[in-house]
Amino acid sequence: RTLLGIESSCDDTAAAVVRLKDGKGRVLSSIVASQTELHAAFGGVVPEIAARAHTEKLDTSIQSALDAAQLGFGDLDAIAVTAGPGLIGGVVAGVMCAKGLSAATGLPLIGVNHLAGHALTPRLTDGLAFPYLMLLVSGGHCQFLIAHSATRFERLGGTIDDAPGEAFDKTAKLLGLPQPGGPAVEDAATRGDPERFRFPRPLLDRAGCDMSFSGLKTALLRARDARISDCGGLTVTDRDDLCAGFQRAVRDVLIEKSRRALQQYLEMSPAAPTLAVAGGVAANTAIRTGLETLCDSLGVAFTAPPLRLCTDNAAMIAWAGIELLTAQAVDPATLTARPRWPLDDRAPVLIGSGK
Ligand code: ATP
Ligand code: FE
Repeated sequence: RTLLGIESSCDDTAAAVVRLKDGKGRVLSSIVASQTELHAAFGGVVPEIAARAHTEKLDTSIQSALDAAQLGFGDLDAIAVTAGPGLIGGVVAGVMCAKGLSAATGLPLIGVNHLAGHALTPRLTDGLAFPYLMLLVSGGHCQFLIAHSATRFERLGGTIDDAPGEAFDKTAKLLGLPQPGGPAVEDAATRGDPERFRFPRPLLDRAGCDMSFSGLKTALLRARDARISDCGGLTVTDRDDLCAGFQRAVRDVLIEKSRRALQQYLEMSPAAPTLAVAGGVAANTAIRTGLETLCDSLGVAFTAPPLRLCTDNAAMIAWAGIELLTAQAVDPATLTARPRWPLDDRAPVLIGSGK
């Protein structure tokens, strides 16, 4: 089985070809055309600019993915496309492109939930078996899910306000670092002192594995402004220390809440418990290592995809498409784009995430 995957739900236009052979997934090509430079002057992703850029880049990205895999449409079994959730203009661009290709080639069309793409990535990279506990931590989401199958995810808890990726991006903006904020803040944090500024660890006093990150952002703003009013500005050391303190707080919350989610999960006595992490923030080394240490101490297996498959890509969409094709979940040509699409019906609507 060989699928083309298309992803355009945020600010990356991506196309990839993935093959399932002998029960294993193999990424034959994965093209990611980033729009970072287009949005740089605005300090965040501008939906209209993103949508236009996707329409310009989709066809060439798809051709590049096919060329890199040395395949043509005749070698494919289906076309998988992100049908939500995300910035609607971009999702519409991808869905319409996939529909056109499907109509022209006669290949089946598969609409993929972007979050399922992130959450199923460990099955592509590690062949991880169901069920497993997934911490999905990205630019717009943060949730603990039990992945039962490619179409059934059970939510144990998650953020009640912002997503950590968004907090990383805002932190970068407040400190004059480039977007996307995650890698920039992580880099500064490696040189900083995580103990100098003490940031809150919200909701640790509350049972369960819900989280909150909006207070952290406010605390960072206050700490920054206090430094500016005391000293007239921020030194590079101040900035690095703020980043290190912020990252340490996010890491501590994710570790402690993962401990609780794991407790909940272990009470359901899964045979071989595994915690898998995915999404853009899973590319953060301090967070990955922290979670790995937690799992080691609990005797739970841990897995995290390679960095390039944590942030948005189309290989995860092609892979999710393979899983859906196996489950015979093919879509009709009336497939539509969905701005919101929770993986689990009990998921609350995020406040203030802009998504
Ligand atoms: P979602 O998947 O929730 O719809 P998205 O697709 O925009 O949102 P992803 O591409 O999965 O998000 O992740 C992007 C986010 O990950 C950004 O907020 C970015 O700052 C963050 N990120 C990327 N690399 C790192 C890193 N090394 N450390 C922390 N955060 C990171
Ligand atoms: Fe994403």
